[in-house]
Amino acid sequence: MPAAVLFAPGSEDPTEWVPALAAALPGTRVYAVGDSFDAEEVEVAIVAPSAAGVLRGLPSLRLVQSLWMGVDELLTAPGLPADVPIARMVDSGMTREMPEAALAHVLYLHRAHDVYARQQRAREWRQWPQPAATNRSVGVLGLGELGARTARLLAEHGFRVHGWSRTPKRIDGVATHTDLNAVLAASEILVNQLPLTAETRGLLDARRLAVLPAGACVVNLARGAHLIEADLLTMLDRGHLRHAVLDVFAEEPLPPNHPFWTHPAVTVLPHVAAWSSLESCLPVAVENIRRLRAGEPLLHLVDRERSY
Ligand code: NAP
Repeated sequence: MPAAVLFAPGSEDPTEWVPALAAALPGTRVYAVGDSFDAEEVEVAIVAPSAAGVLRGLPSLRLVQSLWMGVDELLTAPGLPADVPIARMVDSGMTREMPEAALAHVLYLHRAHDVYARQQRAREWRQWPQPAATNRSVGVLGLGELGARTARLLAEHGFRVHGWSRTPKRIDGVATHTDLNAVLAASEILVNQLPLTAETRGLLDARRLAVLPAGACVVNLARGAHLIEADLLTMLDRGHLRHAVLDVFAEEPLPPNHPFWTHPAVTVLPHVAAWSSLESCLPVAVENIRRLRAGEPLLHLVDRERSY
């Protein structure tokens, strides 16, 4: 009877995860990539996308548990079996930290700290009018695990929040839309929290960015490939957009010669919006293994048709 778990991490530390998994799953053998094991034993693989090659040749595999929330890379990884369910990681750490990051960046832009930072470099003492949050419209793209929480937090803070999703949503205090242009046209600050799919890749191009009101700001916390970077630079240089806070990039780490590094209207962050930790992620993986074995519905299953 196969009952083993294979742990195939990216940056996660197997010397912490493997014993913690073994302690949480009594009677289950837990292997790390590189251990010797019988491929027929492996029932569940807990993987980061960069390690997904290990999924080839596991005939008893019944669940692929992603260590990441975003599954864009995993879904195109060579070796991913076509017929095994994939569960995303949705943990309390990420779902707390991502809305917090979004609120921090929105407040930075709302209070014009980007403008004051530029003024400081020019030794310029100039005060600008400060609208109340209740007079500031913020758009959130994606109203899933992260976007819905972000939209709610921003609304609780008093902002006028507009959110965009594929299917209609109801969120207290948030104007929800399935029409992208309605959200873009209303967004003085736009926060991206979409998954990367064939439909959302390159979504924020010159045409879409032009729909934002003049002087709008962009916060990208999802994936670099959502945004056409050259188009963003053009819109910033033309002055149609005021500032961009970017946590994710088409190429990571951001290459040293990339114009974002020195652009006065760009804040570069090294993909730090939300972190996962063993403490918050391990219980999610363990609960899914319990459910798998009990024949109960699995948590956070990926719909391969939609790619998220
Ligand atoms: P999720 O729960 O799957 O929610 C996705 C949301 O996007 C849903 O509201 C969905 O609409 C909407 N959506 C998807 N495709 C769409 C389309 N074509 N048009 C309009 N709306 C669309 O995802 P999540 O857990 O919130 O995570 C979102 C992304 O954040 C992840 O995929 C990952 O790439 C990124 N992320 C980044 C970091 C970081 O550190 N920078 C950390 C974690 C995650 P429906 O509700 O109608 O389905």
